Amino acid sequence: MTVPKKKRSRSRARIKESHWRAKVKSPNLALCSQCQKPLIPHHVCFFCGTYKSRQVIDIEAKEKKKEKKRKKLKEEAQRERE
Ligand SMILES: [Zn+2]
Repeated sequence: MTVPKKKRSRSRARIKESHWRAKVKSPNLALCSQCQKPLIPHHVCFFCGTYKSRQVIDIEAKEKKKEKKRKKLKEEAQRERE
């Protein structure tokens, strides 16, 4: 087993950590051309469902589907209580 030759001081550790900490804090974000909300570059906007100002995902249909699922889950929970 390999063993470190010297103790890695807190200061050294923190200096090294500072690099990835900075990276974690500042994600690359662009603005959606349709709704002006922040989005990850080269990804479909999940607020309005567009990519390169082209409709890709039907957000309304998706919301309806989600609501349906929520209702179903609620009903199932109520049935279990009875
Ligand atoms: Zn958008």
